[in-house]
Amino acid sequence: MMLRVGDVRIHHIEEWQGNYLPPSYFFTGYDDATFRELAPALTPQFYKAESDTIYAFLQSWLLEVDGLKVLFDTGAGNDKVRPGLPIFGGLDTPFLQRFAATGFMPEDVDLVICSHLHIDHVGWNTRLDSGRWVPTFPNARYLFSAIDRDYWDPAGPGPRPSQAAAVGNTNVFEDSVQPLLDAGVVDLVQPGHRVSESITLQLGAGHTPGHLVMDVRSRGESALFVADVLHHPVQLYCPDWNSPYCEDQEQARRTRWRVLAEAAEREAILLPAHWGGAHSCRVRRAGAAFEPVFDLEAASVG
Ligand SMILES: [Zn+2]
Repeated sequence: MMLRVGDVRIHHIEEWQGNYLPPSYFFTGYDDATFRELAPALTPQFYKAESDTIYAFLQSWLLEVDGLKVLFDTGAGNDKVRPGLPIFGGLDTPFLQRFAATGFMPEDVDLVICSHLHIDHVGWNTRLDSGRWVPTFPNARYLFSAIDRDYWDPAGPGPRPSQAAAVGNTNVFEDSVQPLLDAGVVDLVQPGHRVSESITLQLGAGHTPGHLVMDVRSRGESALFVADVLHHPVQLYCPDWNSPYCEDQEQARRTRWRVLAEAAEREAILLPAHWGGAHSCRVRRAGAAFEPVFDLEAASVG
């Protein structure tokens, strides 16, 4: 699948898909009557009624933009030891074969940008090579949020994550971030960082304190790579519903409302990290909240 936004070409790369948690477990602020009303519109791409689970993806996006190849988010990775969230441990997916289907190789990537430093967004930063974690994209600079680095680095200045969040992210910094810092290939960036003519990184705090939203603009069109500001399309109808993994629940809600308002206003394509279906949408105001518009025909070129 590929999308075009102005002059920018955007390739979708799947890593994993599957049933995750029941919506009543996953969303803080969940209301069953509201979900049941919305469920028909979310079934089956985003919700599986037979198992009562939300259906999730891990996926990356490769952009051809401003003469660069930019990879946004890197999933869970293969061979990682993940006692804090076993579903993402010991994976053996054909991610690199799927990556090659874009027509590019890992060596072609100029920049890897991670929205935040959670377990399911940094995994393919590194791969196992003779027992060592080495950069998967050997010619790339890796752009990480400086705020998130300070937060997740066990030796960083803090503030530190909650105990539950630290357990969930066990080993992640050590095997998927630190080897890149050690290799000298990381640029720690602040919100507002201009990556290239068409790309700016905005702060989308709440899910993690330094969570970044990648804002792409080209020829009057735009895309917002919102990662975990929105885990699921039900959050367009119910923007106050968070995931249990949002570190600052109040800030996560404020950010979601702000980003959705901006996406609706700009008629931007929204590209979240974990959506099934078309993996993206536009946003329209509906009542007091929003609704997704999945018909991207005009923008899709195959
Ligand atoms: Zn995530």
